[in-house]
Amino acid sequence: MITPVLPTYARTDIAFVRGEGASLYAEDDTRYLDFGGGIAVNALGHAHPHLVKTLTEQAGKLWHTSNLYRIPDQERLAKRLVDATFADTVFFGNSGVEAIEASIKMARRYQYKNGHPERFRTITFEGAFHGRTLAAIAAGGQAKYLEGFGPKTDGFDQVPFGDIKAVEAAIVPETAAILIEPVQGEGGLRPAPPEFLRALCRLCDEHGLMLIFDEVQTGVGRTGKLFAFEWSGVAPDIMAIAKGIGGGFPLGACLATERAASGMTAGSHASTFGGNPLAMAVGNAVLDIVLAPDFLLHVQKVANFARQQLAGLVAAHPKVFEDVRGEGLMLGLKMRVPNTEFVSRLFAHKMLAVGAGDNVVRLLPPLVIGEDEVREALTLLSETAATFETP
Ligand SMILES: *Cc1c(COP(=O)(O)O)cnc(C)c1O
Repeated sequence: MITPVLPTYARTDIAFVRGEGASLYAEDDTRYLDFGGGIAVNALGHAHPHLVKTLTEQAGKLWHTSNLYRIPDQERLAKRLVDATFADTVFFGNSGVEAIEASIKMARRYQYKNGHPERFRTITFEGAFHGRTLAAIAAGGQAKYLEGFGPKTDGFDQVPFGDIKAVEAAIVPETAAILIEPVQGEGGLRPAPPEFLRALCRLCDEHGLMLIFDEVQTGVGRTGKLFAFEWSGVAPDIMAIAKGIGGGFPLGACLATERAASGMTAGSHASTFGGNPLAMAVGNAVLDIVLAPDFLLHVQKVANFARQQLAGLVAAHPKVFEDVRGEGLMLGLKMRVPNTEFVSRLFAHKMLAVGAGDNVVRLLPPLVIGEDEVREALTLLSETAATFETP
């Protein structure tokens, strides 16, 4: 018999009832160390006092008014994102995939508005993940997500990650944009080499294409910069963000330059819930913390420590781990044993992590952790690794 909740998830049989920082507590009060971070969402950990205070204060004032009226906190959050990035303008939605949809629509509309209505195709990369709408599964190109959902939405051409010749060869008169994650998340924590991102930028300039970065997972401090693209020195025309910007509240955004957004006139795109006062209060509160002096330096410092420790772990357990990858606090352990089995044995040791493609275990802890939490994680990872070594 089908469950009242549509059974589209393979869930672990546990429910958490409260959290604090990197700790989650189950119904029986057992504590778990959370290095999954709600899949890179809980950027400031659980029950961060500033977020709790902001949300409860706003909840007593105003939740939702619709975008028929001005929303001062929306204007403020947009201005802060504009001031902190390449962007000149921001559209707010409620999730990562909505930010991706807005980005793809914006790129097509730019071409349309600038005398190229024939340009609607987007080049994407093998191993990509952009969400689960019909367009996003076509963009991601993964057979397991496309199966049984009808003809693949037209307008996406996929090439191998990191192969600039293949990108060049895929550019046709109908091409409008190139869409890439600066570090592939679900695909297995694969960073795009900076020179590859620079080459994509050059190709976009030469061919009049829009460069779109999907920073839904890499954004808002996760890699130790506010956005991952800053490591490469290349800025996109359009960028999708979500996950961390809401710190657990559903929130996504599409950031763009004035030129890229030139086709998006009144009535061209909309979201009923997008950017409502409740979400905007929380988004601003997340930025209060992430933009504070030294916050990103803290992330870089803890990340360097974690990376060193993980390198030692890999060296100590060569039959279990192959290497460490990723950027900042978006870290991956490439496994020699099945990643799903490792994640479930780690869970038995009271620590949460998340699987990814290419047999990788993802560590996505809150950005506010310190060296103590990293040491605790190392102990639990090491104990779990040992269970694969004893006969
Ligand atoms: C999670 C994710 C998405 C989709 O976000 P949703 O909020 O689940 O729609 C898109 N792109 C990347 C890179 C992601 O990690």
